[in-house]
Amino acid sequence: MDIGFIGLGNMGFPMARRLIEAKHPLVVFDTRKEVVDKLVVLGAQAASSPKDVADRVETVMASLPSLQASLEVATGKDGVIEGKRVKRFLDLSTTGARMAIKVAETLATKGITGIDLPVSGGVGGAEKGTLAVMYAGPRDGFEELKPVLSAVGKPFFIGEKPGMGQTMKLCNNMLSATAMAASCEMMVMGVKAGLDPAVMVDVINAGSGANTAVRDKFPKSIMTGGFDYGFYTGLMYKDVRVCMEEGEALGVPLPVSSAVHQMWVMANQVNGAGSDFTEIVKIIEGWAGVEVRNKKK
Ligand code: NAD
Repeated sequence: MDIGFIGLGNMGFPMARRLIEAKHPLVVFDTRKEVVDKLVVLGAQAASSPKDVADRVETVMASLPSLQASLEVATGKDGVIEGKRVKRFLDLSTTGARMAIKVAETLATKGITGIDLPVSGGVGGAEKGTLAVMYAGPRDGFEELKPVLSAVGKPFFIGEKPGMGQTMKLCNNMLSATAMAASCEMMVMGVKAGLDPAVMVDVINAGSGANTAVRDKFPKSIMTGGFDYGFYTGLMYKDVRVCMEEGEALGVPLPVSSAVHQMWVMANQVNGAGSDFTEIVKIIEGWAGVEVRNKKK
């Protein structure tokens, strides 16, 4: 199936590459020319705007860094909404349910179906094609799109209403953000008391405290000192903030998530939106005066 892909960043680039490898002709656009050029070398065709992408294909996917970017790309001037051929817009970004509904309703005025399709599993999952792919949109479209979705990961049908995939994603990411913040506290506490972080990781992964932060983020990007997991602090902060807003709109108190939210407010202020999200540990390390790094052999 011919596909358009807009937003070729840490997640979008490897997903677009996998679509090319799965033999889907691809038309791509990003505001950064260098990433477009790299995909053209791999076999994609370059477009000059979201509208240009939507003039050339029926199915447009996007992976963008902010709610505003998703709104503009989908419904703004020179946006997907102005395209001549487009029939469906699949947003892989994390935007929250309310933005997904707003985009879907605006696109519907031009007969375009807005589908939320957030993903989870990080840059590693995008490279390997093992992402959890959360589809919310028409059921028959899910079956039709399955070969495309399977090229990037494991597709889950979440529901027919726009926004349901986004709610699913926010629940997942708040848990991931919580695991990260809480694991940072416990790993720093253990190290300050004299425990070896490598031993802590092995024990926690074999025990009841096991979680994705201790399984993946500590060994790969914190204990090595690399801080290179590939997810920006600003993006995690966005996800947590949107989750808090949606909890409030739904009338669901989130006291534990509130404390986690404050940790990410701090990380965003202190480390900056462009830092790797694993750098949140440095804040707690600074308070405690220790670092959670592999022992030198
Ligand atoms: P990123 O910042 O690496 O990539 C975003 C890309 O969008 C960049 O290449 C940027 O140039 C491009 N862009 C920005 N505005 C644009 C516009 N108006 N038109 C065209 N291109 C534009 O971000 P990312 O890490 O790839 O994340 C993308 C989305 O996926 C976010 O919503 C994020 O929350 C979500 N996500 C990220 C991860 C992860 O681990 N990085 C995992 C799951 C979901």
